[in-house]
Parts: sequence; C-alpha cells; structure tokens
Amino acid sequence: MTSQGLWVRWVRWVGWGILLAPLAAQQNQNAPANFVKVSGPVIALTHVRVIDGTGAPARDDQTIVIRGRDIAEVGAASRVAAPAGATIVDLTGKSVIPGLVMMHEHLYYPTGPGVYGQLGVSFSRLYLAGGVTTMRTGGNVNGIMDVSLKRRIEAGEMPGPSIDATAPYLNGPSTFLQMHAVTTPEEARAHVAYWASQGATSVKAYMQISRAALKAGIDEAHKRNMKVTGHLCSVTFAEAADLGIDNLEHGFMPATDFIADKQPDVCPGQARGQQSVAALDENGAAFTTLVRKLVEKHVALTSTLTVFETYTPGRPSPPGLDVLTSQLQENFRRAQERVSRSADSIYKMLFAKDMALERAFAKAGGMLTAGTDPTGSGGVVPGYADQRQIELLVDAGFTPLEAITIGTLNGAKYLGRDARIGSIAAGKQADLVVLAGDPSRTIGDARKVDTVFKEGVGYDPAKLIESVRGQVGIW
Ligand SMILES: [Zn+2]
Repeated sequence: MTSQGLWVRWVRWVGWGILLAPLAAQQNQNAPANFVKVSGPVIALTHVRVIDGTGAPARDDQTIVIRGRDIAEVGAASRVAAPAGATIVDLTGKSVIPGLVMMHEHLYYPTGPGVYGQLGVSFSRLYLAGGVTTMRTGGNVNGIMDVSLKRRIEAGEMPGPSIDATAPYLNGPSTFLQMHAVTTPEEARAHVAYWASQGATSVKAYMQISRAALKAGIDEAHKRNMKVTGHLCSVTFAEAADLGIDNLEHGFMPATDFIADKQPDVCPGQARGQQSVAALDENGAAFTTLVRKLVEKHVALTSTLTVFETYTPGRPSPPGLDVLTSQLQENFRRAQERVSRSADSIYKMLFAKDMALERAFAKAGGMLTAGTDPTGSGGVVPGYADQRQIELLVDAGFTPLEAITIGTLNGAKYLGRDARIGSIAAGKQADLVVLAGDPSRTIGDARKVDTVFKEGVGYDPAKLIESVRGQVGIW
C-alpha cells in the first residue's frame, strides 16, 4: 500500500471533522475576538466627556481607568492619571455614556405574513454595535434560541449583549403560529416552570391571556425570582397591576382600560383600545387614576416608540435598513407605502398622544424604561432602532440627559442590576459607549458609535455591522 493510500484510509477512519476541527477553531466566525478594537488588562480613556447615566450634567475632560471587566477610577484628567503600562485611548472631542440597557428587544423579525424568522446571531451583533450591552428579550418565538444565545454570549463564545432571556410568550389561544396557548392556571404555571428550568430568566404575557392564567404565571415566576411583563389586551393595565405584574409594554398604546364595554378576559381588538387611548386626556381622572395605581404598585412601563413610528404617516424612514436582505428591504418599502397612503391613520394622533402619556407617567413618578420592538411590519432594525428610541424620547419631551437615563440606568434598576450596570462609576462594570460628539446637547450624536465596551472589552461597531450587512433576514 502506498503512503497515499494509507493517508486516505486514515482520513476515512478518523473523519474529516477531526482533521478540520483545529482549522475551524482558528476561523470561528462567531469568536468575539474577531470584532475587538481595544483590549488589555488596563485601559485608560483620556480627555473624554462623561455622561454618567444618572442624569447628572456631562463632565468634560475626564479619565476613565478600566481594569479587567470593571471601571477602576473616573475623574478629571487633572486628577486621574493613566496608570503606567495602560493602553491609552485619547477621546478628545468624544463622549461616553453607559452601555444601553434596553427592555423590549427581540431575536426575531417579521420575514413573511404572520411568520417571524429567527435572526438571533445577526441581531446580537447589531445590538452590540448599536451600543446595547444589556437587553431583555420582550417575548420569544424562537423557543430555546433566546436561552442558547444568552448562554453562548455569557460563555464568551459569541459577541452580543448580556441577555435577560424571556420564555416563549405566555398567551391564551391566538392565531399566532409560533405561540403556545395556555388556558388554565395549571398550564400557565407549567409553562413558566418548564421554561425557567430550561434557563429562561423572565416572562412576557400576551394579548389573549386570561386573568386567572396570568395570575398563576406571575406567581410561578415570582417564586423563581423572575419578573413578568405584558403586552396585554384581554387583561387591562389596572387588572394586571392588581395581579402583581412587574412591567407593561408599549407605553399606554395597548391599554384596554378605557373601553366602556370591555368584557373581562376578552381582547376587544387592538384598534378599539387605540381609539380609546387616542381620546384620553392626560390630565383627566380616568388616566391619572390608572397612573397612580401603576406608580403605587411599582409597575414599570416600557416605551417602544420606534415600532409605532413605522406605522405613523409622515415620519422619517428608520435607520439601518441597508443591513437587511434586499427582500426584507423591499417588504418594508411596500409597508411604508401603505402607511404613507393611509391619510386617516389613527397613529397620526396616537403617536403624539402616547408620547404625552408616557411623559405624564414619568412625571408622576413612574418608572419608564426603553425598548424598540423589532416587529410590526419591519423596519425596526436592532442597534439602529435603540439609538432612534433614545432620540424619540427627546421628541417626546424628555431632555437628552433624561432620555439617556431612561435607556440606561432605569433598565438596570428594573433588572435589579444597577449596582453593576446602567451608570458610569468606579466599581461598576465597564459597559460604555463611546460616541463621536455630545449627545447631552445633540441627541442625534447617539448614532455616532465609535466603540462599545462590554465588560472592559472594546468592540468595533463597523466590524460587527459589516459581518452581517445584507444578510439580516437569513440568520
Ligand atoms: Zn415585542
């Protein structure tokens, strides 16, 4: 037998897989190292403007010293020197804000009528590129994928934000092909218990859930130290607050509290709820009574203006469409045409009304958090939309500093993680977004992401985006 013959036999015997494995490891497309711009045991960001996320005014000419995963020191450049041997990054003219903590994200996207594609890999990269270092998935039609991605990212095997992974939706019978249906309290408890056992860390209830099932789901989740949010319809905001829910999604857009003939446990359709919300007076008793209840019961509210902007005629085209596949770009272009033709769209009034209601809720002491909700008819592109959501909070009447707090520290507080993330201070995790500009003056500068530090590692947004450009829709 020739030596070549032996070689062929050996290869057949051990298999190509083993021979190729070391090569595959070197070329692992998912390795976070492929996307790193700045790293080192000690990094000093010098001459940078610090917007710390607490709402405090911006401080110019600061030094931030990062050691390992954490911020070791922050202070005026005149006081805090870069330690000897540190990797120095001169950020003159630039700002840092805390990494965004966004509360209504998804790892799926509408890819066809009534169908949502699992885009977790490209989305994780886009979220991180956009400055999101922590996020909650606000509902899951991917089954185990949200949990798997959370684990893989935590293990350092893939780039992406830290994920609070919701279980698949807790919903009653509905027309959604990719949702479970629970009808009894026992089924609700079993759903929450099963997904908790699989690694889900939070729960999202949906439009057709019954009060009894929601209550059982909340109790089971709380027993396991998980929080529950909801995009509700069959259950009113006030009922959900009384049942112990922690959070409600989409501002006041889905509230059915103001429909005079609302039947218990029945969703009267989103349109009827929206008509009643559009007609609300933010100073009227009906609304202020609900707000008082939400504030007293510590129910947080998530603003997702980005998804509603895509439904509203006359609004600018959303950012980031060019990363989508050409098919999804075309799908969204058609959706935009339909929106622009709907002259009598309720969103013309509702979009501005919801902004006013969210502002009133926050002013009354309510905990407002931010998210994007990349669903609808498309066009809400992860990362880009997170920046847009912060801009839209400023459109809604918040100051830039308030909008940044809503998108950072408020989310961290909701998650119970504010001792570690959500603001910039010594001892906290080094989750930072470097921006070319000053978002405390011009909120649009939130789009100018230069570097995203997550746990002390600086990622390059351009590399993350280029790795998925034109393919978002496939994976
Ligand atoms: Zn959603």
